Amino acid sequence: MSHRPSFTVGILSLVGLIFFGALSYRLWVAETSSLQESFSNEVARQAASFEREVLLNLEILYTLRTAAEVRPPQSQSDFDQMTASVLERLPAIQAFAWAPWVSADQLASFESRFAEPGSTGWLFENSLLGERQPVSERPWYVPVTFIAPLAANHLAVGFDLASETRRLNALLAARESGKMVATAAIRLVQEPESQRGFLVFSPMYEPGGAGNGEPQFYAFLNGVFRVGQLFEQSIGVSTPGNILFQIVDVTEPQEEVMYSSHQPSEDSWQVDFIDTVALNEVAGRQWVVRATPSKGFIADQRGHLPLIVLVSGIGLVSLMLTNTLITLKRNRELHEAKQQLEAISLTDSLTGLANRRHFDQHLKDEWARARRSKSCLALIMIDIDFFKPYNDEYGHPAGDQCLKQVAQALQGVPKREVDLVARYGGEEFALILPGADDAEQLAEQCRATIEWLRIPHEYSDIGDVITISLGVATVRPGPGTSIEALSEQADSALYEAKEAGRNRTVIAA
Ligand code: GH3
Ligand code: MG
Ligand code: MG
Repeated sequence: MSHRPSFTVGILSLVGLIFFGALSYRLWVAETSSLQESFSNEVARQAASFEREVLLNLEILYTLRTAAEVRPPQSQSDFDQMTASVLERLPAIQAFAWAPWVSADQLASFESRFAEPGSTGWLFENSLLGERQPVSERPWYVPVTFIAPLAANHLAVGFDLASETRRLNALLAARESGKMVATAAIRLVQEPESQRGFLVFSPMYEPGGAGNGEPQFYAFLNGVFRVGQLFEQSIGVSTPGNILFQIVDVTEPQEEVMYSSHQPSEDSWQVDFIDTVALNEVAGRQWVVRATPSKGFIADQRGHLPLIVLVSGIGLVSLMLTNTLITLKRNRELHEAKQQLEAISLTDSLTGLANRRHFDQHLKDEWARARRSKSCLALIMIDIDFFKPYNDEYGHPAGDQCLKQVAQALQGVPKREVDLVARYGGEEFALILPGADDAEQLAEQCRATIEWLRIPHEYSDIGDVITISLGVATVRPGPGTSIEALSEQADSALYEAKEAGRNRTVIAA
């Protein structure tokens, strides 16, 4: 029996734990997806801001182009004047350059116009190792002629833009389309060690310069932009340390990373979670902003709610479990204690009379006392008549009720302190009457009292109410007497009373 409550408690605790576990997990999942969503929003915001920054910078190139169309620069100082105010305001612009289109037959006169007197090979191109070397034979050249700011970029003066594939491709595309065209990412000639940049070429035309009304192409205005700076400027103070931002040129099938906010090779990035936002076309090139959170990104921003729910859930269940187990244990102990108490108790729990233990003990004491005082001791044994049929017909609870009534009535008969009325067992009672010379009288009084109770008993063979039979024995304890013998005498007298027709008292001879 005692296993069942513990089993139920175990199952309930398990259900509780599963409930809190599941609740905590659901919260965790919801939190994860909300953090991922806020990450994506953050990336989209950064991408939009970067795009705006790029467009703003390119816009400057348009403005310069308009100025140069009106009055093309004739000297480095012209060009400086044209660009100075802009360069101050926009640090992501590495340089503006003016590079005229020079055909092979014009090269000598062009060089003599701009080179230092006496110097030869003013134009240069870079070898594969990046060293300056004189230009090779080509049908045309696009030498960087004026550049601003000059101090930071003087190494680029004389560099033939047509000598390098990426620049050449963009130059051709710009001349072809008449629009601004950006290069793929390039290492800047003037900043070989540093970040990557890109060049935007704007083709310049002389209105009606060809003599046939067609505008005549003659030079490129060229802006040099630093990608990293554009990005860092766009996001304000500095890149958040827990997100890796990359600007990737995806125009060609072989994509190219132009800028990384952090070292992408580190294994601190959550590479399985990448967010990519495509930008609008930038001067003919397709770029994307790609962002990867650091491994700790989500973890750092997590709240404690799922953990709190889990821990308090476990706490609650443990508390309930401990409490229930304690209660169960206490109940068991109480039950055992009750049984023990009953065992050592002197009272019959049904009738409230002295029980058999009490009776035995009392009889022994009174026996000893009577022997000492050489007085009499009387014992009356009582048995309810036809109680089995009563019990069978009216039911056990009614039987109990009847036993209580009889007990109460019997209890009221003897008036002396020293007399004891006990439930001897079942439907049998006993009276111990020390020194009683009126035992017979008391027995008769008991019999009459019960009869007068008039507890209906249709199934009694001798009447229609509950009656009792009684056997009385009296002894003066001394040699040749014993408690057992006294009991047997009373019992025999009772037996005789039954035999004689019940509802009567028989005095042992
Ligand atoms: P007799 O007149 O010869 O005494 O017949 P009886 O039916 O009274 O005697 P018997 O000994 O055959 O039956 C006693 C019945 O008392 C049997 C049992 O059902 C009933 N009994 C004993 N103890 C209790 C009890 O605590 N409560 C109830 N309701 N019935 C009890
Ligand atoms: Mg009996
Ligand atoms: Mg009986």
